[in-house]
Order: sequence, then C-alpha cells, then structure tokens
Amino acid sequence: MVKLAMLGPPGSGKGTYATRMAPKLEVPAVSTGELLRANRDDPKLGPEIRKGQDSGGLVPDKIVMAVLQKRLAESDAKKGFILDGFPRTIEQAESLEKFAKLDAVINLVVPERVIIARLSSRRQCSKCSAIYNTLYLKTKVEGICDKCGGELYQRSDDKPESIKERLKVYEKSTAPLIDYYGKKGVRIDIPCNSVDVPPDEQVAKIMKALKDKRVIQ
Ligand code: ADP
Ligand code: ZN
Repeated sequence: MVKLAMLGPPGSGKGTYATRMAPKLEVPAVSTGELLRANRDDPKLGPEIRKGQDSGGLVPDKIVMAVLQKRLAESDAKKGFILDGFPRTIEQAESLEKFAKLDAVINLVVPERVIIARLSSRRQCSKCSAIYNTLYLKTKVEGICDKCGGELYQRSDDKPESIKERLKVYEKSTAPLIDYYGKKGVRIDIPCNSVDVPPDEQVAKIMKALKDKRVIQ
C-alpha cells in the first residue's frame, strides 16, 4: 500500500514519471489533468473544464474532486495510487486529507528555462495519452505513437500564452504546497537541472529516494 503525489510546475515531468513508477509500485498513476481531459466533451462538465484548461487556469474544485473521487473508488486504486497534478492548491490538499493520507510527496525541482523548453516541444498521443517530446523523447516515426500507433498532437494549453499563465498559476496557487508538505515531513525533493535527463534515470532516482526514506521496501 503506497499513496504518493507528484508535485512540481507544469512540464516538470510529473506524468512522465508517475506512469513509469506505477507498474513498479503496482498502483495506478492518476492524473487529474487526464481525467478532466477525458470529460472535455461531457455536456455538463465540459464547458467549465475547457474554460479552465485552455486558459491555463484551474478547473473548479467541485469538478476536480468529483472526477478524482470517482477514479479513486475503482478497484485498482484500493492498493494505493500516485497522484499527478493533484493537489494543486492548499484547499485541495485539505480535501484530500479527509479521505486519504499521503505517504510521500515527490517535489520535482526544475528551473523555469527547462520547463519552457519542454512544454513547447511536448506532444501527446491522441489515443493512449503517452507523452513524447520533439527534442529529447522522439517517436520512431514522426508524429506517430510508438506504443499504439495513434496520432500525436500538441495540447491546447502547451501554446506559449497558456504556458505563461500556467506558470503564474503554479507560483501563486500550487507552490505554497511545497512548504505545506515540508512541514508535514512527507516531502522528498528531486532536482532536475537539464532538459534531456532520460526519464528512466529520473525514475530510478525517485525510487531510490523512496527506499532510502523507507516509504517503500
Ligand atoms: P501540467 O501538469 O503539465 O500542467 P495537467 O495535465 O496536470 O498538465 O493539467 C492540465 C490542466 O488541467 C491544468 O492546467 C488545469 O487547468 C487542469 N487541472 C489539472 N489538475 C487540476 C487540479 N487538481 N485542479 C484544478 N485544475 C486542474
Ligand atoms: Zn499511443
């Protein structure tokens, strides 16, 4: 049983690492960004989700909590989970505490220049959501997913105007969680200073830190 959350600015690699850690830890990686994207066409929730995501702002807590709680109620999450993109505010962290206590929070420490370089070159599979990068995590065939053959696309919020807004929102609403989880004694800082560190190397670093802190065996 292990309950983790990934913390870090947009483009810090939360999703890339969480999806690679999941099979090793035998728990699902749960991305609120993905869960929300999956509901963009929902007649009831869609409009507010698109408004939040496309502007680079946040989606209202009510919607986020609803999709998250539904996902965590599924059977594969009974053994634990790796949250990616949640909590994003102190209020969300407090809501989470009402139904789950995190064993550790992986805080990805990444300089802004690395983030901007990564986000503007990020591409995602339209079928299986795998993440690639036109600079350092290329597909074998340009524009086509290695895993499933799906077509790659650039997310609407990975355009320059949205990237700036997301970084602002991160600094204001999410960065306070760094201190919050530090005070609770569950934060593990993982630095990453260059654009092209291979994801598996970074994942190995995270897994080692989790073992050293006895979060996992
Ligand atoms: P990244 O971490 O690279 O910004 P995500 O896929 O995690 O990408 O999130 C994309 C967008 O989805 C966010 O910019 C935000 O609009 C919305 N979102 C994701 N998670 C949350 C959350 N916990 N609370 C509010 N909005 C969220
Ligand atoms: Zn794919």
